[in-house]
Amino acid sequence: MKNADVIVVGGGVIGCAVAYYIAKKGIPVMLVDEPKRGRATSASAGGLWPLGESIGLGCGVIFHKAMIEKGLIPPDSHVPPQLPKTFLDFAIQSNAMFPSLAIELRETSGIDFEYEETSLLFLMYDEGDVAFAKPLYANCPCGRSRIDWLTPNELRKVEPAITHNVLGALRFNGDNQVNPYALSDSFREAARKLGAQIITHTEVKGIKVSSGRITGVETTTEFIGCKYVVNAAGAWAAQIAKTAGIELPVYPVRGQIVGTEALPDIISACISTNDCYLAQKKHGEIIIGSTTEEVGFNVGVTPSAIKELTAGAIRAVPFLEWVKVKRVWSGLRPGTADEMPILGSVSGLEGYINACGHFRTGILNSPLTGLLISEIINGEKLSIPIEPFLLSDERLNGSITSNHKVSVFSQEQQTIIISIKGMTCEGCVTNVKKTLNSLQGVTKFEVSLGDHQAKISYNAKEILPDTVIAAIDELGYKAHSPLAAKCIGL
Ligand SMILES: Cc1cc2nc3c(=O)[nH]c(=O)nc-3n(C[C@H](O)[C@H](O)[C@H](O)COP(=O)(O)OP(=O)(O)OC[C@H]3O[C@@H](n4cnc5c(N)ncnc54)[C@H](O)[C@@H]3O)c2cc1C
Repeated sequence: MKNADVIVVGGGVIGCAVAYYIAKKGIPVMLVDEPKRGRATSASAGGLWPLGESIGLGCGVIFHKAMIEKGLIPPDSHVPPQLPKTFLDFAIQSNAMFPSLAIELRETSGIDFEYEETSLLFLMYDEGDVAFAKPLYANCPCGRSRIDWLTPNELRKVEPAITHNVLGALRFNGDNQVNPYALSDSFREAARKLGAQIITHTEVKGIKVSSGRITGVETTTEFIGCKYVVNAAGAWAAQIAKTAGIELPVYPVRGQIVGTEALPDIISACISTNDCYLAQKKHGEIIIGSTTEEVGFNVGVTPSAIKELTAGAIRAVPFLEWVKVKRVWSGLRPGTADEMPILGSVSGLEGYINACGHFRTGILNSPLTGLLISEIINGEKLSIPIEPFLLSDERLNGSITSNHKVSVFSQEQQTIIISIKGMTCEGCVTNVKKTLNSLQGVTKFEVSLGDHQAKISYNAKEILPDTVIAAIDELGYKAHSPLAAKCIGL
């Protein structure tokens, strides 16, 4: 029977960081990963934006604007909510680990994760943006040296490709970027070199418990005994926790993203606007992100989202109108209602440790998470207080939320348009209508014979678009993937 002191479930950036720091302490560790569609690390933009993310930039401000446009937040609430100081402290400390980590992991793994000191620019398009930026500039939680106010002229000198239609920009010094795939690869390879066993393409089916303590995990092929299980299964963490009788409020939050062809240097800083964010990577690709959507484990890409993101990118950097889109993709963030990771042990189950729920900032917060979990297992003094990140009753019953929680409700009601090949007569329309009527979770629909289409509203918590499509297919027609899926609010 295989055995390890510690089994890490999940080989995204968090699982790899955890395995690395544990192996570094000389503790026998085994990482078990099944690469699922939509895993977040390989979908990420690689931004390290501790200040930006904690004050609501990046995806926060894009999401906030979308909510205002849908009438779900009053139009005068221009400012996205900030995350608690405990989050900022964690993110700042994790971010500070990157310069030395870049050297350390290059030496141990031979992989360069492309750490770049870019800074993050928030573009101010209008007076509303200026009103948002002024108090941030006046009371920057990290001190004045971390933040600069650039006039339009100053911005033009340092970033000539950015639109001239701006009232200025805020620069967040110390908010930088990495290549997220290379970061994860370098953690994993360094862990392996330090003795960690890496088991790939193997699913953990469940955690085994006896008399209130972990005894091991059951994989698709065998039982592996251990003293500790670290749950780093990303958006799937709740499923793993459930097998040990633990309820975990972690759920998938889709982010869609666009990548351009490789370009010469166009922008030197990462850019955040209320339409999108942009980051040019070392190999020249410009990453344009990203949406915040609750659509279960649906890993699709929708034309409407791609259109909005690219329009936002062209508004910020007009030259992008002439470049080629090379790829589009989406990933599932491990979401939590309060946008904070869930870390550490849980009461009543010895040997079980959470390292999940990193939502929009798992790349940024991976080094400190890995270090912290290794300190817990080694019984050391912790580098940062863990209490705010533990799985508490308040977090479990959802009484702590942030602006993101709005999406849980707003995105419940979704609309898709499905084209149906073979629906050529009134009788066919009646059949489709009957089927849609019988599906729990479908709330409204219009079926058009002329367009061979059905516009279907459904509750995303009750039914997935794929289930609707499969039901129509079963009638003998050919239903195509959604042409457009978009949140229509409550
Ligand atoms: C579009 C997008 C952009 C983002 N941009 C940024 C950014 O700029 N900066 C930032 O800091 N963060 C960003 N994030 C968030 C970041 O990517 C995540 O927080 C982070 O990757 C989470 O890492 P993870 O290891 O917890 O999850 P994942 O990377 O999803 O890894 C979990 C792993 O566990 C595996 N797994 C699941 N179940 C099992 C099982 N039963 N058995 C075995 N293996 C299993 C999965 O297949 C996967 O490999 C972004 C996310 C998205 C989607």
